Amino acid sequence: MQEKLMIIDPHVHMTSRTTDDYEAMAAAGIVAIIEPSFWLGQPRTQVGSFQDYYSSLVGWEPFRASQFGIKHYCTIGLNSKEANNEALAEQVIELLPLYLHKENVVAIGEIGYDDQTPAEDKYFRMQLEMAKELNMTVQVHTPHRDKKSGTIKSMEVCLEHGLDPANVIIDHNNEETVKDVLDRGFIAAFTIYPKTKMGNERMVEVVRKFGSNHILVDSSADWGVSDPLAVPKTAALMLERGISREDVIKTCYQNALDAFGKNGKMKESHWLGTSAIDQRELFNDNSVLRGQEPKIDGNKII
Ligand SMILES: [Zn+2]
Repeated sequence: MQEKLMIIDPHVHMTSRTTDDYEAMAAAGIVAIIEPSFWLGQPRTQVGSFQDYYSSLVGWEPFRASQFGIKHYCTIGLNSKEANNEALAEQVIELLPLYLHKENVVAIGEIGYDDQTPAEDKYFRMQLEMAKELNMTVQVHTPHRDKKSGTIKSMEVCLEHGLDPANVIIDHNNEETVKDVLDRGFIAAFTIYPKTKMGNERMVEVVRKFGSNHILVDSSADWGVSDPLAVPKTAALMLERGISREDVIKTCYQNALDAFGKNGKMKESHWLGTSAIDQRELFNDNSVLRGQEPKIDGNKII
């Protein structure tokens, strides 16, 4: 039997997922994840809420992931929806530099357009300037409404600000947008949704048609109907449908590592040969155990 594939999910909101998810993800071969900062399903009202959220993405959540054998990275930014509260957005922008230098922050994200309002445009551009100045990768959320025009506009604005398209991941693509993204030299990420939008069968056909260069697969799993195993499931389906193992490795692992590993904070050595789990560890005196028996190395909790 061939060795099990290693998988990276480059877009998953673990803060809203359970420890069962972490266990299932590790069992399915996920070795590393990237958690973009986003909105919480309802708008925040104070800058302190952003600060505590960003702190959890660079503190508690990487610890929680480590307790299940998964390496956690994140992207930090002001999301498009909340850019529309300008008074608050100003304060959040001031806060970002405090977090962009943290050790597990691999990009500015997820930023971009939701309704394509002037405020969204203003803060998107401001954060692109920050990315340019700090030489950071950018993770762009494209709007679910007016997808095609919103995607093209996002790329035009990135180019206008002088960003290298090879350092920009355009997320939530579909068959309508992928060619425009690849033709312009950007990286195209695809979110696999369990029931609507991009399903994993469609993803197989995208890879068959467009190949595996500059294409990433992610789950964008969050507090909504979503599947944190979308990437390993898609990888398995690709193999079953005759996509080469090399192309599966590129789209479900290597391309994500190449795209988000540019600032040197995400490295294969972080998970290769270091799978030891020790749930006796604590983060600020807190553990994930709730009084249960710690799992050490390969022992199962159940
Ligand atoms: Zn997201």
